[in-house]
Amino acid sequence: MFDWLIVGAGFAGCVLAERLASQRNEKVLLIDRRSHVGGNAYDFYNEAGLLIHAYGPHIFHTNSAQIVDYLSSFTEWRKYSHRVLAEVDGKLLPIPINRTTINVLYGLSLSDDAEVAAFLASQAEPLDSINTAEDVVVSSVGRDLYEKFFRGYTRKQWNLDPSQLDKSVTARVPTRTNSDDRYFTDRYQIMPKHGYSRMFHRMLRHSNINIMLQVDYADIRKYVPHRRLIYTGQIDEYFDFCFGRLPYRSLRFDHVTLDKTWHQPVGVINYPQTHSYTRVTEYKHLTGQEHRKTAITFEYPTDMGDPYYPVPCPDNQTLYKKYEELALKAGDTWFVGRLATYRYYNMDQVVGQALATFRRLDETLPRQAQP
Ligand code: FAD
Ligand code: UDP
Repeated sequence: MFDWLIVGAGFAGCVLAERLASQRNEKVLLIDRRSHVGGNAYDFYNEAGLLIHAYGPHIFHTNSAQIVDYLSSFTEWRKYSHRVLAEVDGKLLPIPINRTTINVLYGLSLSDDAEVAAFLASQAEPLDSINTAEDVVVSSVGRDLYEKFFRGYTRKQWNLDPSQLDKSVTARVPTRTNSDDRYFTDRYQIMPKHGYSRMFHRMLRHSNINIMLQVDYADIRKYVPHRRLIYTGQIDEYFDFCFGRLPYRSLRFDHVTLDKTWHQPVGVINYPQTHSYTRVTEYKHLTGQEHRKTAITFEYPTDMGDPYYPVPCPDNQTLYKKYEELALKAGDTWFVGRLATYRYYNMDQVVGQALATFRRLDETLPRQAQP
């Protein structure tokens, strides 16, 4: 008899397995339908010996010292400031849009924040209310920059027009009046020194944790005796799609090794105007690995395949809420993570959600045994 069955060995499942095993001395069975732990953050050394991210670039960034402290028990870190360029009108320009972007794109020489702010104000279309992913951008930088940097990329990525998506989608990418060209401004911007997979293996190295890979919850649920369940897969699948399917967007990754030392000047280049892929990642920028060859990944958005992105828009949120109501009534079952709570969460947010779930259940559930 396991105290816990945990479905899904991504960040959500691994953090909870680690906490339950080490802090409550409870027996955990952690399962995943994939052949590895780490969920979408899984990385591995490819045939050339280059460390790559199987499911696209994962850059760790957070403002939470508590989350960094927790993960630091399982990994050392390498400092990494992520930089992204967008290919627009044949030029490689910084995204988020900053002073350099505007000066190079329009042939201007705006020299301080106030001049850039005045320029953007002259372009921006004031709106009474900001609801959609289009509104956010058009109201802050105007239609020309919106069309060049956001409309095409968003349509490719989501197969929806920005006017059909929640404002939270494009609000992830700020606009700057200075020349800071980092993609994130969080206090901590770091990568696990030896990769994510090494970190996950250290988290799961506990005698109370058993791991089964390449097994589906649906196939083993009846045969694995367990007291309680943590579910980090799709919430609609858990409830047999009884209210219909929640939409998820997927990606096809084309991983390529090149027989040259470097391919591009920064970790990621976005393609909002050309190509059917959205972006190209070169991992050596992220990992700091020294190697005579280099590995890159092209991301092609698609509806087929693994569910990578919940699609943020009002109809989908309404449907999710129906599933959430069922989830709240499910006894001894906790729903955690990006798929089970249908939230467009970054890794640090999933870790925060999992740690908060642990604290809540630790306060309310009697322990099976003393640690
Ligand atoms: P997942 O990692 O999806 O793990 C869920 C696991 O459950 C999966 O391994 C799945 O196989 C398993 N599972 C599901 N159903 C079943 C079942 N029925 N039976 C058995 N197993 C099941 N975040 C950042 O902070 N920075 C980034 O740079 C970043 N880049 C990203 C790039 C891409 C392309 C994507 C898709 C995401 C990115 N993220 C990034 C987000 C990050 O991947 C997630 O926040 C995080 O990995 C989610 O963890 P999770 O445990 O909730 O889900
Ligand atoms: N986006 C865009 N152009 C860009 C970068 C982002 O239109 O050059 C939009 C797009 O809709 C994207 C969203 O902003 O899905 C969020 O971007 P982010 O880089 O956070 O996406 P993720 O890394 O989660 O795929």
